[in-house]
Amino acid sequence: MSSWIESGRKHVWHPFTQMKTAPEPLPVVSGKDELLVLADGRQVIDAVSSWWVTLHGHANPVIAEAIARQAATLEQVIFAGFIHEPAAVLSERLSGHWGGHLTRSFFSDDGSTAVEVAIKLSVQYRQNTGEPHRTQVIALDHAYHGDTLGAMSVGERSAFTAPFQKLMFDVIRMPSPVAASGPTTAEHRQIAMETLVSYLEYHHNEVTALIVEPLVHGASGMLMWAPGALREIRDVTARYGIHLIADEIMTGFYRTGELFACRHEQVMPDITCLSKGLTGGFLPLSVTMCTEEIYEAFLSDDRMKTFFHGHSYTANPIACAAALASLDLLETEETRRKVKGIEEVHRSFLPAYQAQPGVADVRVTGTIFAVEFAEATPGYFSGLGPKLYQFYLSEGVLLRPLGNVVYILPPYCISRENLEKVHRLILKSLEWVREGNAR
Ligand SMILES: *Cc1c(COP(=O)(O)O)cnc(C)c1O
Repeated sequence: MSSWIESGRKHVWHPFTQMKTAPEPLPVVSGKDELLVLADGRQVIDAVSSWWVTLHGHANPVIAEAIARQAATLEQVIFAGFIHEPAAVLSERLSGHWGGHLTRSFFSDDGSTAVEVAIKLSVQYRQNTGEPHRTQVIALDHAYHGDTLGAMSVGERSAFTAPFQKLMFDVIRMPSPVAASGPTTAEHRQIAMETLVSYLEYHHNEVTALIVEPLVHGASGMLMWAPGALREIRDVTARYGIHLIADEIMTGFYRTGELFACRHEQVMPDITCLSKGLTGGFLPLSVTMCTEEIYEAFLSDDRMKTFFHGHSYTANPIACAAALASLDLLETEETRRKVKGIEEVHRSFLPAYQAQPGVADVRVTGTIFAVEFAEATPGYFSGLGPKLYQFYLSEGVLLRPLGNVVYILPPYCISRENLEKVHRLILKSLEWVREGNAR
């Protein structure tokens, strides 16, 4: 056993991990495309893009070279008082992908900080424009927006957030246009919209922003929205001048089949948060983009109207270079073809799932596939997830169930053969569970 494995055992604290009972972490030494290579030479298919970040595959040479080139040219510079080409060009290209509507990019480090920036921008905008009473943020049931205190505040309250209850700020919680379990119907959309519309009728003047994960609630189980709801939410928030914050941290960069989830319903948010796939999954970087109108509310001779926010590594040039290389790859016809191909494979397997007993729901949005195992106690803490996780790993596939929901969110380079293999394994696991192996 290599000595570094022992070092890790003694000194590392892993995320979302009960260190007392968790199985030994798998030592990984390299990656290529959709494969992770373990220290003992075993290969594992990364069917969850390493927590939804890897777009073009592990160790993609185009991005690796861009990073090496940038690191040898300019690795970092203070971003107050300085600008560099990778950040300037990246902002321009991202803005172009939002049809020129979101003109300004504010850089930070990860999804959570991008959400913090979005909330702070909206709240200070009201101060700057003479509506300081508008401080409420509306968030949806089943939402996940990150793990820092502000991001947790807008996310669904759960066992994860319970210890910090007193430190989080209050938000207005609204029903989401999804079923928490089982198939989503038009009724979910109707209830969500009626609740929102009737609240805003009387309270719109207190509200600054509404934050959503457009079309798919990722962390709460790849819950997929009823069609049309996003468009309706945009229309009603626009009517009252409420900022729509689209958290596209998971859904962005073709995960849902379009470059951004908002595009499915021709929605332009006022603010969007991008991270995860932004650098193709190579480096931590995020961006909070907003309209020129929001930006202009911070322009003033009064220094108090400045947005006083920043991070040590804001707009790190190496991370921006990785993002540019990832965009180059994303903008090719080949990527769009791969994205379509993944969705086709997912859909071709739907009848096989529907034919199985023990399936509470099965759903696809673009490259995201999810199957909900029927179970007495659904949710994250259902005992099923960890058992399935081990079952899949023993067959050479990394799938990390969210409780009783098993999902596939693959890197776009995955071969058809391997994607079909993953589906066949999930189908096999339904049988394995039915036989009582997961008890
Ligand atoms: C992952 C995620 C975040 C948080 O991003 P981090 O980089 O983990 O801080 C926020 N919102 C959504 C929708 C996410 O999926």
